[in-house]
Amino acid sequence: MRLLLVEDEPRVAHFVAKGLREQSYAVDVAVDGEDALYRVSINDYDLVILDVMLPKKDGFAVCRELRQQNIHLPVLMLTARDAVDDRVQGLDSGADDYLVKPFEFKELLARVRALLRRKQTSLRSDILQIADLTLNTANHTAARNGQSIPLTAKEYALLEFFVLRAGQLLGREEIAEHVWDDHFDPASNVIDVYVRRLRRKIDDGFSPSLIHTRRGEGYLLSANSEDDDVQ
Ligand code: CA
Repeated sequence: MRLLLVEDEPRVAHFVAKGLREQSYAVDVAVDGEDALYRVSINDYDLVILDVMLPKKDGFAVCRELRQQNIHLPVLMLTARDAVDDRVQGLDSGADDYLVKPFEFKELLARVRALLRRKQTSLRSDILQIADLTLNTANHTAARNGQSIPLTAKEYALLEFFVLRAGQLLGREEIAEHVWDDHFDPASNVIDVYVRRLRRKIDDGFSPSLIHTRRGEGYLLSANSEDDDVQ
């Protein structure tokens, strides 16, 4: 999942982005309202965390513009004080939820998860399952055949992306868009390296194989043996 955090206070932005990355989210940070709109126009985000008090364009204006452009990605608004007016204006501008500053990081996380779950109809429960592979999207753990598989945050993010799009051929660009952030170097082979590593953990010693390669095209996750790699 790739998130855009719009926050002009460097200390808060750093703290929140770091916490989200530790939870396996890819995070870009925008420092003002115009920067936020620009980034949304060029990247494919799964959710926006939007501060209200921002330079150039405030959070209300950004949210209204997104909705006017028919962009329906979930918006979690950060309001500076517990003023009813702020909350009402936030929801009126098209935000899906709001959080009052200062907030506990774990509450932010819970709301992010809830909004992402609402967006993905396949995420009605915290557990995703393909064959004997299960992912727990609440605590970011994976298991095959009941056996827990230790994953790094990035490996988990990649696996969750594959599972949410099971059966779909995924190109490197699409994977990078959702699992990596702005610092991703398209010339690198980091995706292939991660997929290989993930495959070893998920598929070695288990049947059926779940992660399949399409040479020159990308990868797909499927329990169907017809999707096995063509040698
Ligand atoms: Ca601010």
